[in-house]
Amino acid sequence: MKKLLLHTCCAPCAIYVAMKLKEDYKVTLFFYNSNIYPETEYLKRYNEIKKWAEKEKIVMIQGEFDQENWFSKVKGLEQEPEGGVRCAVCYKKRLEETAKYASENDFHIFTTTLTISPHKKASIINSIGLKLSEDYNIEFIEADWKKQDGFKKACELSRQQGFYRQEYCGCKFSIRE
Ligand code: SF4
Repeated sequence: MKKLLLHTCCAPCAIYVAMKLKEDYKVTLFFYNSNIYPETEYLKRYNEIKKWAEKEKIVMIQGEFDQENWFSKVKGLEQEPEGGVRCAVCYKKRLEETAKYASENDFHIFTTTLTISPHKKASIINSIGLKLSEDYNIEFIEADWKKQDGFKKACELSRQQGFYRQEYCGCKFSIRE
């Protein structure tokens, strides 16, 4: 079975995607989300998914929490609306760390759970993933997980598990939206 590294931002987004991918790949979760603010919220999301991954016996790797670096990447884009240029920079940073880790650690494929969100455009995320696939010479799975009731099914699974559901996307600037 091919080894796949799945970038994931939180338990509610991960559960449906991880379970689908597990049917065909050996899935490892990669929690790299330096965008999440404040750190207490980051830890809340991290601990929730870690607990679930342990229960499901899915390996999860925690990337570095480097918020200063993330803030420097989005400098000047603070006022952008959700879904705008700041988000594209944020997706790229998170996907690039995933592609880099995957290529350096003998994974065959990488992808992300991000497209499960109805607030996120799959076309932007997929084009970033495909470019990184070339740059790091590793296969990327293009997907729009929200389709075919994916988002609805993810919400249902999340409810069944009693997961903590955050009320904003993640960064300091999304708290106001
Ligand atoms: S709104 Fe979400 S995707 Fe956009 S920059 Fe903030 S954390 Fe990243």
